[in-house]
Amino acid sequence: MARMKFLCDADRCIECNACVTACKNEHEVPWGINRRRVITLNDGKPGERSVSMACMHCTDAPCAAVCPVNCFYTTADAVVLHSKDLCIGCGYCFYACPFGAPQYPRVGNFGSRGKMDKCTYCSGGPEPDLSTVEYEKYGSNRLAEGKLPLCAEMCSTKALLAGDGEMIAQIYKERVIKRGYGSGAWGWKTAYRETVAI
Ligand code: SF4
Ligand code: SF4
Repeated sequence: MARMKFLCDADRCIECNACVTACKNEHEVPWGINRRRVITLNDGKPGERSVSMACMHCTDAPCAAVCPVNCFYTTADAVVLHSKDLCIGCGYCFYACPFGAPQYPRVGNFGSRGKMDKCTYCSGGPEPDLSTVEYEKYGSNRLAEGKLPLCAEMCSTKALLAGDGEMIAQIYKERVIKRGYGSGAWGWKTAYRETVAI
């Protein structure tokens, strides 16, 4: 079984935000929430780099570790999903996640924020695959249709890669060999067991 991963190659990202827009449109993400964001360092200066960020679908996910109602679960494809039926909107996962992935759709009276929302890796939720109720709560389930996340599919420079970790590792390795250096993405060696010296 595949272990689905994202990797954004910072040497290729041109900060066009197509991935962000594709995600919002595909899943009809609520107003005020971005499941994906593009972060730019050294904007307009030498060494500028952009990286597209969303839920990284962690192994031993910290969000799941702190959730008091166990609403997170990992699919057979290693995607970290959550249940909007179980979520009580306590915000623990928001603080535990190192990537700021879980978002709350609204801030109402007395600080109520509703159910958490986050990147599903275009993989829906606990409801039956491709059902109306799944779409209404979590957006489209492209994985069930045999497709990859739309953010990566839409990336014109192929900076953003999605798919089985082993396959992504191979693609990135070929890029590194060709250009003679890696992007230096933090934690990449650990996540993908990189063997090429970069
Ligand atoms: S679509 Fe690709 S190039 Fe454009 S911002 Fe997203 S990752 Fe970067
Ligand atoms: S929400 Fe954050 S902590 Fe949880 S799996 Fe995604 S990146 Fe990891």
